Amino acid sequence: MKALVFERSLARFAAARVAGSWAPGGGARVGPLHLADVDPPELPGPGWRRITPLLSGICGSDLATVDGRSSRYFEPIVSFPFVPGHELVGHLEDQPSARVVIEPVLGCEARGIFPPCEACAVGDTGGCRHVAFGHLKPGLQTGFCADTGGGWSSSLVAHESQIHPVPEGLSDDDAVMVEPTACGVHAALAAGPVSDATVAVLGSGTLGLTTLAALRRLALPGHLISSAKYPEQRRWARELGADEVVAPDGIARAVRRSTRSLAAGRVLTGGADVVVDCVGSAESIATAVAVVRPRGRVVLAGMPGVVRLDLTPLWHREVQLVGAYAYGVEHLPGRPADTASDPDLPDPGRSGSLPRTFHLALELVAEAGLGRLVGARYPLDRFTEALTHAAEAGRRGTVKVVFDLRPETRRPAWRNA
Ligand SMILES: [Zn+2]
Ligand SMILES: [Zn+2]
Repeated sequence: MKALVFERSLARFAAARVAGSWAPGGGARVGPLHLADVDPPELPGPGWRRITPLLSGICGSDLATVDGRSSRYFEPIVSFPFVPGHELVGHLEDQPSARVVIEPVLGCEARGIFPPCEACAVGDTGGCRHVAFGHLKPGLQTGFCADTGGGWSSSLVAHESQIHPVPEGLSDDDAVMVEPTACGVHAALAAGPVSDATVAVLGSGTLGLTTLAALRRLALPGHLISSAKYPEQRRWARELGADEVVAPDGIARAVRRSTRSLAAGRVLTGGADVVVDCVGSAESIATAVAVVRPRGRVVLAGMPGVVRLDLTPLWHREVQLVGAYAYGVEHLPGRPADTASDPDLPDPGRSGSLPRTFHLALELVAEAGLGRLVGARYPLDRFTEALTHAAEAGRRGTVKVVFDLRPETRRPAWRNA
């Protein structure tokens, strides 16, 4: 089968790092990723199914990997060679009509570990304590594990615990947006209770926009400010529910005005109750810490890597800095866990009494029409173009770039961006 394969090669990592620093996405041309003809992955054991991908998205974390920018932190929790691709809609290999989305996190159940760790026991697979153990090779997610394959290919394997059926009414574009939307839902709910609060979201790429949509519909903040660099991103941010959309260099002014704060140099005296950083750069984290109020919360949703920043304002203002990775189960504001489900009605979307992030994302994608964020589709063999486009998506007026693995007959009529 055809697959984009990421090999462990120090020379190619170095080349990718150089090429990626010249032009984002440039690592695809010279780095460890190549198109190959490989055997489909073996089924690792009972409960595993073969999946045929239809659409498979390109994520910011994939671009960081391709350009050799991802943190060395990941070394013990990925295994090579791996096929990237963790945002995908596909179908069960033996049932072309059964469309599914895959929850990529490889928790205890998928790893064959019993009893599961305390996080997986309550459905919080994103917090799994066993990401490098069990009968699978290390890999925090499908798309970073040598044993599972990934979405940038024509076949992969997934454990039943990772598989969610796609409701009839969702298009393939909607379905491929479920995973990135789940990340947005998790980031939005990591903000905590925010009714009457001012929340600022930094960045309006895919993660920023799905986080905005989730905040608007699930967390219901008092005032929602978003920063967006490009005109098309500003249009989406307004459409998905921001009360105010500003350029990145205007965020401090907007927060100062809406919270009636004063500016002491770069730092505000008051500030937003919560800032969700969907960029993850040194600059965005520094901005987040500068515009959040004393004792406020910064949610780090964009994947950061090694950054250098002055933490003095964080210390002085007693700001909480919390990470938001992937998904699992969620506590919805205003809905205590014990009233969130009806014990007489078993619901596959709930683990115990808490809703799964993926099910909230399936609902949100439909409600907010997030399939519209898919702006460009490429066949696998044009991967260098696809990755360059994804790296320049904002500037080119695109949000999500995906690989289209559907046979010609299954593709709806669409115009590529
Ligand atoms: Zn991702
Ligand atoms: Zn676990």
